[in-house]
Amino acid sequence: MRLAVVKETVEGEARVALVPEAVTKLVGLGYDIVVEPAAGVGSQLSDETYVEAGATIAADALFEADLVLSVQPLTSTQIRRLDAGAACVSFFPTLQSLDLVEEFRSVGVTSFAMELVPRISRAQSMDALSSQALVAGYRCAIIAASRLRRFLPLNMTAAGTVPPADVLVLGAGVAGLQAIATTKRLGAVVKAYDVRAAAAEEIRSMGAIAVELELDTLEGGGGYAREMTEDRAERQRELLAPYVAAADALITTAAVPGRAAPKLVTAAMVEQMRPGSVVVDLAAESGGNVEGSVPGAVVQIGYAQVWGASNVPSQMSEPASRLYAQNLVNIVTLMTDEDGTFAPDFDDEIVSGCCVTHDGEVRHEPTREAWENRS
Ligand code: NAD
Repeated sequence: MRLAVVKETVEGEARVALVPEAVTKLVGLGYDIVVEPAAGVGSQLSDETYVEAGATIAADALFEADLVLSVQPLTSTQIRRLDAGAACVSFFPTLQSLDLVEEFRSVGVTSFAMELVPRISRAQSMDALSSQALVAGYRCAIIAASRLRRFLPLNMTAAGTVPPADVLVLGAGVAGLQAIATTKRLGAVVKAYDVRAAAAEEIRSMGAIAVELELDTLEGGGGYAREMTEDRAERQRELLAPYVAAADALITTAAVPGRAAPKLVTAAMVEQMRPGSVVVDLAAESGGNVEGSVPGAVVQIGYAQVWGASNVPSQMSEPASRLYAQNLVNIVTLMTDEDGTFAPDFDDEIVSGCCVTHDGEVRHEPTREAWENRS
């Protein structure tokens, strides 16, 4: 079976779907792996390392491919080069890419979206949202630390005592907990808030202070948060305002699946922060947790520099690719039978859960509804 790895084409995407160690593992399952030239350069991986791992390098890797692995979804042009019956596995934000959904469906390509892998314990090793959120959370902490012009830890010296920096993290999911752990390790005094009840214990287990607001918790399904009503959002902002004003660095990582990022912090709240303070908004690309943040840019609001995230995992492409590649190895292994044939079992809830198109149909229910109603 021919497995192709493409060179990513989306501007600024430095990750690659497979790293050489992952190639070796999939060759061991029986795949012939063909990698497009320079696919790994953004992650400091040369073509030679892929050849040593057992792949061949070819510009026409997609030709007659049975399975294609990528980070971002393929483009229309790439999809049209595939044969009916081929399969693709990648991140695939289907609701924002309905034209690609139609392309996959009409060409008869089976597509799987890594963000739709069910978050059940059997699928943990395939959970690319978590692996990439881990990278993003770490990176956000480092950005905040490097933009602050002060120490994170307490320093007691002969010349006097320098107090530690105060860091506030909003949203304590995978990325937020990693930002908490990282700023904590650097010695900051870290406070954090999340709407889920379970998060407070996790925040404390990292050695941080769980901010408790007199508000109901908002549990949704599958360990996720629920969307706030506008009244609750308003009250939450009022209660958080003094914590934001007191922070040297604010890191926001809050998200609700399938919704725009919740607006947690207004520009007026940021304006209360002290000179030299820093805001890192990991949710900037999905609407922003902070009013006025701009994805991929640093803007000044009051005295604070506000850093808006844009494809943060790609900014640490080497470890992000390594973790993503292992997620892919695990999911491809699940979909491969003993003879080394790619044969997804659609009765398996992981396979059916992340399948977007198959056999000329749109299989993922919310995507199908949006696809049927598209203009
Ligand atoms: P996410 O990226 O969807 O959201 C990030 C965080 O934002 C969440 O913790 C959420 O509660 C929080 N949030 C949402 N609205 C908020 C608001 N108004 N104010 C403050 N915080 C808000 O979530 P995630 O990081 O992908 O995962 C969240 C949780 O899902 C995890 O902590 C875990 O419990 C669960 N999870 C389970 C598995 C698994 O079982 N395999 C894997 C990963 C995550």
